Amino acid sequence: MKPLSSFSRRNFLRTLAVTGLASGSAFAAPTSTAQPFNEVHDLVIVGSGFAGLSAAYAALKAGVKDILILDKMEAFGGNSCLCGGLMSVPLNPKQQKQGIKDSVELMVADMTKAGRGFNHPDLAKKFAENAVNICPMLDECGVQLMDKVIRLGGHSAPRTMVPTAASGGGIVVPIHNWLKKNGVQFRNRSQVIDLLMQDGKVTGVLVNCDYNWKDGSSKKEQRIGSRGGVVVATGGWGQDKDFIKTTMPVYSLLECTSQPGATAEMLKALLKSGCLPSMLDMYQLGPWASPDEKGAGPGSFFADYAFAEGMA
Ligand SMILES: Cc1cc2nc3c(=O)[nH]c(=O)nc-3n(C[C@H](O)[C@H](O)[C@H](O)COP(=O)(O)OP(=O)(O)OC[C@H]3O[C@@H](n4cnc5c(N)ncnc54)[C@H](O)[C@@H]3O)c2cc1C
Repeated sequence: MKPLSSFSRRNFLRTLAVTGLASGSAFAAPTSTAQPFNEVHDLVIVGSGFAGLSAAYAALKAGVKDILILDKMEAFGGNSCLCGGLMSVPLNPKQQKQGIKDSVELMVADMTKAGRGFNHPDLAKKFAENAVNICPMLDECGVQLMDKVIRLGGHSAPRTMVPTAASGGGIVVPIHNWLKKNGVQFRNRSQVIDLLMQDGKVTGVLVNCDYNWKDGSSKKEQRIGSRGGVVVATGGWGQDKDFIKTTMPVYSLLECTSQPGATAEMLKALLKSGCLPSMLDMYQLGPWASPDEKGAGPGSFFADYAFAEGMA
């Protein structure tokens, strides 16, 4: 992957999450585009967390003009907003300013060791190589970071950037505001329930409008078209006990720190369209946050630092 700033429009469209992945499926066919759309955009992104915001930033930089981000919740930002916002990035500018030695290879070795070798090797390498590409976006959108990087558990070098707000909200809010200022449209209470397909290509999404996550109700269904494919950035499904039961039954008994909208309906839509994600039965369990605090409360600050010194 190239740095965000040099992402070309063609490359971006080629790397969209689901375009072109939807043929030869063993699952039931996704909803087809028989009826007209209620509205059409250049690019529709589903989910307004780090992934959705980064996709919108990359698309804008690639020259895409009319971008719509849909989120089913009342508040934007998903887990990204409530998380600790700690970003482990080898060779980041703050780390280099402090004269800390690090490398992509060291990060991959750390991830592999901490992941007990279960990691997807290509994805781990891609992640370590490209993490530094978020830095221009953070700068341009005005995300405030602490001067020093810290060392988290499992990392053999201090390489973790911390927002001054000590929360993912300190990253999400400035990027959200910057994107809005630059013309990206955001729409909340819009639950995407399916991908719309034509001739094996994703052409849009089926949306429950005025969706109420508390009771699952919605006012009407809309078909929203997307000329440049659809980016699905709907995060995890830690609150979807029924789905967890099918992949790792014992974990469905555990409490979870994810926001209530972390459910699997879009994952199911992707599976239905022929996408085959890897390692669906791998879940992150750790001492970094407490379910009692419903997110990253004070417990996470204690756990993070104790964890770096070997407590787990
Ligand atoms: C308590 C806590 C602390 C954490 N701390 C850290 C940390 O310090 N560092 C770190 O790297 N990671 C941390 N994580 C993990 C991190 O939060 C996630 O990996 C990251 O936020 C995922 O970003 P995302 O954009 O993929 O998903 P999200 O931020 O969850 O965004 C997905 C969005 O999609 C929306 N959505 C879902 N389904 C639909 C649908 N059908 N239609 C429309 N919208 C939909 C959701 O409402 C949500 O807004 C933490 C997680 C938690 C829960």
